[in-house]
Amino acid sequence: MKKVLLLLIGIAMSSSAAFAQQAENDTLSIRRDRHGNIAFVTFTPDINQKRNATNEKQIIGKLLNLRSGIDEQRLFSTKTDELGHKHNKYQQYFKGVKVDNAQIVAHSSTSLESVNSSMVAINDMNVTPAITENAALRVALDTLKAKRYIWEDTATLNLAKRSNPSGDFTGKGQIVIASATYNKKDTFLLAWKFNIVATEPFLDQTIYINAQDGSLISNFSNIENTNTPGTASTLYNGSQAITGDSYAGAYRLSELRGGVTIHTYNNNANTSFTGYSEYSDNDNNWTSAEHPNDRDALDAQWGSEAVLDYWSTVHSRNSINGSGSPVTNYTNYGVNYASAGWVPSLQVMIYGKGGLAGGVVPVNSMVSLDVMGHELGHGIAQTEVGFAVSNEAGAINEGISDIWGSCIEYWKTPAKARWSMGEDDGIYFPLRYIDYPGTSPLGAQPTCYGGPNYIAPPATPDASNDYGYIHTNMSVMSHWFYMLLIGGTGTNALGQSYAITPISNTDAQKILYRAEVYYMVSNSTFATVRDNTIQAARDLFGVGSCQEIGVTNAWASVGVGAKYVSTAAFSATVPSICTSGTVPFASLPTAVSSCAWSLSPSGIVTPLSGTGTTISLTRVGSVNSSATLTAILSYSCKSNDTLSKVVPVGLPGSPNLGKRTSPNSSCGWDITGPLPTGAAGVYVSSDGGSTYHTATVQYNASLGYTEYIAELQVDGPASVTYYLKSFNTCGTNTPVIKTLSITARSGCGARMAADSSDTADSSSFIRIRPNFTPSSLFKIYPNPTSGAFTVETLNTKTNDYVARVANNLLPSLEISSIKIFNSEGILLEQHNYTGLGQQKINLDLSSRPVGTYYIGVANGKVKRSFKVIVQH
Ligand SMILES: [Zn+2]
Repeated sequence: MKKVLLLLIGIAMSSSAAFAQQAENDTLSIRRDRHGNIAFVTFTPDINQKRNATNEKQIIGKLLNLRSGIDEQRLFSTKTDELGHKHNKYQQYFKGVKVDNAQIVAHSSTSLESVNSSMVAINDMNVTPAITENAALRVALDTLKAKRYIWEDTATLNLAKRSNPSGDFTGKGQIVIASATYNKKDTFLLAWKFNIVATEPFLDQTIYINAQDGSLISNFSNIENTNTPGTASTLYNGSQAITGDSYAGAYRLSELRGGVTIHTYNNNANTSFTGYSEYSDNDNNWTSAEHPNDRDALDAQWGSEAVLDYWSTVHSRNSINGSGSPVTNYTNYGVNYASAGWVPSLQVMIYGKGGLAGGVVPVNSMVSLDVMGHELGHGIAQTEVGFAVSNEAGAINEGISDIWGSCIEYWKTPAKARWSMGEDDGIYFPLRYIDYPGTSPLGAQPTCYGGPNYIAPPATPDASNDYGYIHTNMSVMSHWFYMLLIGGTGTNALGQSYAITPISNTDAQKILYRAEVYYMVSNSTFATVRDNTIQAARDLFGVGSCQEIGVTNAWASVGVGAKYVSTAAFSATVPSICTSGTVPFASLPTAVSSCAWSLSPSGIVTPLSGTGTTISLTRVGSVNSSATLTAILSYSCKSNDTLSKVVPVGLPGSPNLGKRTSPNSSCGWDITGPLPTGAAGVYVSSDGGSTYHTATVQYNASLGYTEYIAELQVDGPASVTYYLKSFNTCGTNTPVIKTLSITARSGCGARMAADSSDTADSSSFIRIRPNFTPSSLFKIYPNPTSGAFTVETLNTKTNDYVARVANNLLPSLEISSIKIFNSEGILLEQHNYTGLGQQKINLDLSSRPVGTYYIGVANGKVKRSFKVIVQH
């Protein structure tokens, strides 16, 4: 009788684990957040474009393990960048309810290349509100206790509708799922979310009310102040040309610049917008003698022009919202108002006349160019990202605004620019030092994430803790940018060494802008912004570019993530040099400036040295051997990398077989020592003739070695002679012959006879290995059993595995058949399965006698056998 013999040859080889995983995996990297949710994924190149626009949503769903009918990702924004890459932003919904600040962004060029996500895992919750919108609004208004709201104030309402026509100013509520606390996992609440503007006192708040019990969840101020704790003759920038327009027989501070209206009003010390007026000049020559008290308005007008010019010139951006939105300034805001602020709901800027910023820093009018750049930077972030206003996201928003403020200052007024904020406004000193944040006058700030002066965000961010110390921890972001431009070596406040080769200011700005516009999400963290900026550097300048290396090392210097690790590597599988050929790189960093090659020993290939990014090697005569290739890669921005690789030349050697010693000494064969040099695999034959089977290679994680599996059809029960040859791209060597004796129920113990119908049935098999340890693919439990047991597929629910299956990179793990044999090797039962969901199968042997049974499990490609002991 012909029987199908499944022959396993094990080879203990730790390095093969990485190889096998690399071969199976179409994700290059997965970074998870501290709750274990996927935060950033990059995929391997997809030349066949299997990950495309058609299945993008499905891939994301599988990657993030979204449950059908429960979790949902809805596309809400699509952007195409200057490189032609597409960035699709999805909003997370749970049972049809928006999960506040939980977003997913998919990035594609010719295929889907990366996904970043702030999606959260919600087990279950009731999404039907118990209290009405009106009841929740009453709680919100009770919390705010304002005397007057915008819907009661026609003047401000009209202004709001003019500057933000699509805004809602009626106090309308929205049902969302909100994070109850920001530091704990799975604490989500159904909430009514309101955005409410009050004019007495002036407030622009986002407030969340528990939709089940009507309690207050959180209450955030949306006004993004410079400091929460605290030829016109301009005040800070000398005589500058500005453009005023003619108005009521004179000139006012209004201008249409490149299609964008810039208008500065006098708010006449009011805190709401009921009594503002035009500034006026008779001849458009705004001298300090004429405007002794209004020079700050001239700075506001001139500075707004400079800010918009920066965005237009450097980033090709048309005003704050990217499509020509007007800039409206209200200077002379309030009394002793020692701040400037961006008001998101109204989309206007307010500037005070000065006072004591944060209660500690005496300031004049807050109209310096860096402060304006900072505030209008918030407007850009609002358009592009919509950062959550608390904790890490809030600090990142503030830090990025400080970066833009400083960049604009360096761009427009380089002679007086420096890495601090508000040095013009401060009477004695600035508000913050970006270069030395520990000495910032408004309060010491950290240079490192989690280091000295860093204050861990609280569980409940509110006004009393600056919404999670956003104006303290922000310096991690801004100091990163500073370090990227300044570079150097040293030890940071966490005691970690760093070495940064700086990149140009221009490149750094492009990277940050790209990361902000296309990658960042509402609930960004420092870790995800690190990912985003690294990805942006790769997009713009190449993988392993000096820009990517600088960005990575600058983040390490502020305690976020590891230093850059070179990705330079030869391909895992190097083709043999049969006549001549090259050794390909799997990854050659863009920043490599030169390469020096050497080969040893002599007499195998020529030449023995060379330069350039490739070297062509020629086999010497008909030699069958190997040579060691060494490449020294040089960079302008990091130390050299030295790579070496053994290059097979000619035919491989013979497999070196020895008797198995582990896990069982009586059956099977080990390849002792490594595979022959250059061998790409092993052929197995039962006849030594023309029929050789290529043994498939798979790594058995639970056993810790690689299996070569081949199915052989053999005659007779007594012994099998088989022949092994190794092969590579040059051909195959001569076979090695071994004989394996098979005795029924021998020490091998596991000889299962095939059933009678299996003469050429590849789904039946004999495994020659006793006491076989359960594989990494399936498990059987309990064992021993009184009868009932379960066969389960393993690792099917990890997101990356599911994604790989979705991309046809792995066979499905779904069980396709289970066979049960008795100890005599007689087939007792066969169960076939089709369709989805066969991940866990319950079987019962309680009606059968006690004893040993053999269970064969197959999933269409991979087969495994198990011994089950039944004890009644
Ligand atoms: Zn700010």
